[in-house]
Amino acid sequence: MDLRELYQEVILDHGKHPRNHRFPEPHNREGRGYNPLCGDKITLRLQLDGDKITDVGFIGQGCAISQASCSTMTEAIKGKTLPEVQALFSKFHTMVTSDEGADDLDALGKLAVFAGVREFPMRVKCATLGWHTLNQALDDESGEATTE
Ligand code: ZN
Repeated sequence: MDLRELYQEVILDHGKHPRNHRFPEPHNREGRGYNPLCGDKITLRLQLDGDKITDVGFIGQGCAISQASCSTMTEAIKGKTLPEVQALFSKFHTMVTSDEGADDLDALGKLAVFAGVREFPMRVKCATLGWHTLNQALDDESGEATTE
């Protein structure tokens, strides 16, 4: 199965049945994200114990790409430390915005299927919304993360 087929499969699967589609209790961080270009909205909550994300969940609405990306992200970051999460975000961001991340696709696991969105700038904002919302939650700033 090539990356394009996998992409379709992951978007369909996670778009229809998002993982961690709930608010974890307890939680001590919250981020809200909005992508005005597409209308995608995400509220992400997580429990940060020390520097480890022990639980995470989100409620959102919007296109299948935004919801599937946030869903796969929650799977990828759960149980990881902040440095690990930052490294993952950095790799993901490079992958969807440039050609340079190609060597790192293995390290991204399922997240690698989003490599194809870089050809579609509008879709990049959908695919990165969850990650921007995560950053905002970790910074614990009030207000909304936006892709603009
Ligand atoms: Zn979207």
